[in-house]
Amino acid sequence: MEVVEAFYSRVEENDAKVNAFLRLTKEKALEEARRVDIAVKREERLGRLAGLPIAVKDNICVKGVEVTCASKILAGYRPPYDATAIAKIKAEGGIVMGMTNMDEFAMGSSTENSAYGPTRNPWSLDRVPGGSSGGSAAAVAARMSPLALGSDTGGSIRCPAAFCSVVGLKPTYGAVSRYGLIAYACSLEQIGPIARTVKDCALLFSVIAGRDPRDSTTLEPPRRLEPESLEGDASRVKLAVPKELVHGVDPRVEERFWRAIHKLEELGASYSEVSMPNLKYSLAAYYVIAMSEASSNLARYDGVRYGYRAKVEGDWSEVYARTREEGFGPEVKRRIILGTFALSAGYYGRYYLKALKVRALVKRDFQEILSKFDVVASPTMPTPPFKLGEKVKDPLSMYMMDVDTVPVNLAGLPALSVPCGFVDGLPVGLQLIGNYFDEERLFKIALALEDELRIYERKPPLS
Ligand code: GLN
Repeated sequence: MEVVEAFYSRVEENDAKVNAFLRLTKEKALEEARRVDIAVKREERLGRLAGLPIAVKDNICVKGVEVTCASKILAGYRPPYDATAIAKIKAEGGIVMGMTNMDEFAMGSSTENSAYGPTRNPWSLDRVPGGSSGGSAAAVAARMSPLALGSDTGGSIRCPAAFCSVVGLKPTYGAVSRYGLIAYACSLEQIGPIARTVKDCALLFSVIAGRDPRDSTTLEPPRRLEPESLEGDASRVKLAVPKELVHGVDPRVEERFWRAIHKLEELGASYSEVSMPNLKYSLAAYYVIAMSEASSNLARYDGVRYGYRAKVEGDWSEVYARTREEGFGPEVKRRIILGTFALSAGYYGRYYLKALKVRALVKRDFQEILSKFDVVASPTMPTPPFKLGEKVKDPLSMYMMDVDTVPVNLAGLPALSVPCGFVDGLPVGLQLIGNYFDEERLFKIALALEDELRIYERKPPLS
């Protein structure tokens, strides 16, 4: 009870500045906390997350709690069921604190594309927290919640984790159920954990992972992760650093990145610089695929089934058109239009099919490298967190922020971002990419680095 209350008072103190939460579920949370207290008194068996508050990205369904994807079009929608990840968290005694801000429908890298105002970076309030799970990462960084859920289609967990100096994992495609995750681009996205430390991140991952009959793309991992006995270990790890993922990175970020690699070397790892020639096409392929899938997934928002409906007289097509015109923000519209174009009869082969071919090549590049090395390492983001408003008018420059994160989603691999330093007080993240279902190795390496750097001890100034 005290734990949950303490986090809510942090929210009350700080969230007016940060805007990480779109809505809180305090009453329900306190009720659940009381139940955990009673279970403690009765010495009942406790869940692995007993009494721990969790902030949930606003695209993951929690039964009875409004979920909007930070879009006007879903305003007022209350899902009648829990996402599988949420059901698993509840079954382990975890407590949902509230829903966090994001880019509308998870489209963006800065959380500025929210219909409810941007989230600010706790390390520097005039900068973005990254996106699209910016609210979740900022909530954890500002100590408003110990744990959070995000979703990652092209970097949306790792980008804000890096920008807010917290740990975030994009799990192997199929490791975590997407049931109850509001779809943006199904072939790319996964729900994943965000936390202040590697162990907490591993704990939350181990709770939400596993096969789910409600999501046929899920698989049971070959080995169950035991976060309680996780130990940092980078010895004899063979790292590959693809030059394509370092090229063009801000030199100050690159310097921090190499420092982290050399730290891992001191801890017993070795590294080689390699080339993965198809990675340079990833960004273009990603955006064609993501927009194509989005244009299809977002067709369901028609003013009839969910949330918002425009007040117009007329036939259904008018209601449909006006609802979408008024309900979607500019970035979402841009993507629906581009995605529809990419899938249109005359252009399907030129764009969508071509992108799928690139995707196969990217996958092949990773398979080849990961047959010789244990892990691929890169900076998570090419720059430190940028200023609010700096890129909103220039979508391409925003898309470019994802160069180092999207290849992983094309290949379906797991990747983790762990804090590795600061540039003028602004966080820098290290990205570790593993083979399918090799999350445990990523956690071990990240933990070894975390034990050395102890960055989680630093508190953001919230100014
Ligand atoms: N920035 C990327 C996009 O806008 C990734 C978003 C995400 O992972 N949800 O598509």
